[in-house]
Amino acid sequence: MRKLHQTYRASSRHWVGDGFFVQPLFSHMGEDRGTDPFLMLDYAAPHAYAPNDGAPRGVGQHPHKGFETVTIAYQGEVAHRDSTGGGGIIREGDVQWMTAGAGIVHEEFHSEDFSRRGGTFEVVQLWVNLPQAHKNTPPRYQHLPKENIPSIQLPENAGQVRLIAGDYDGVRGAADTFSELNVWDIDVNANQSATFRLPANHQLSMVILRGEVTFNGQDTAGAGELAVFEHTAGAVQVQAASEPVKILLLSGVPLREPVVGYGPFVMNTHEEIRQALNDYRDGRFGAI
Ligand code: MN
Repeated sequence: MRKLHQTYRASSRHWVGDGFFVQPLFSHMGEDRGTDPFLMLDYAAPHAYAPNDGAPRGVGQHPHKGFETVTIAYQGEVAHRDSTGGGGIIREGDVQWMTAGAGIVHEEFHSEDFSRRGGTFEVVQLWVNLPQAHKNTPPRYQHLPKENIPSIQLPENAGQVRLIAGDYDGVRGAADTFSELNVWDIDVNANQSATFRLPANHQLSMVILRGEVTFNGQDTAGAGELAVFEHTAGAVQVQAASEPVKILLLSGVPLREPVVGYGPFVMNTHEEIRQALNDYRDGRFGAI
């Protein structure tokens, strides 16, 4: 078995802009929790918004460089626009995999429709590092609509795995990535269990979004916790308690490259951060 190494509780909630009330699970700006190649994860746990006739809530224009942002919409809708001329709506069940690469400017708001209607909003934003060799790749985004994300039933009707990225039992996930990694949206039904086997060279962690789980018959974790596993071979058994469990599984081959973060930029050296700031100020990231 691949043993649980440690669990971490989410940090306290804070607002990103006025539309995303998030709990951080890990960050490249804080303690190293062994999540490389994943830099940061913010969970906007279910939060109710009243109908709003004014401007939609969210985050206005801001840059990114040197990594990828992955937005997973569980409930509610996110509207985005960016400096490549792209834009659209991330609906429930959809994922947006945006490669900031050499530099992008974008904005993220509740969709006008969701904003007017109001309701429950639940989103994850995950930052995936780019290998040094690809930090300056041209910016782009992959819109992964729900219907293009492969969904695999777990044995004995224990639940399902939606393959946002990576590989499960020979099935390829929806996103193209720059390094070897898995991002799986897992549901395990109440009182059921499932076993997941990841490559031994992957670091492995799981974010528990809902429910209570027991790993390998011994260690427990609950909603709002990050479970980090030992970096060894072996499988992890996930047993759901009396409520359904929702997990975001993250695994990947660590890049093991220097990480220098400054706000929305993540590079390998301080000099590259200075350059990114200058390039952004000089308008070289473009405009929406
Ligand atoms: Mn952003």
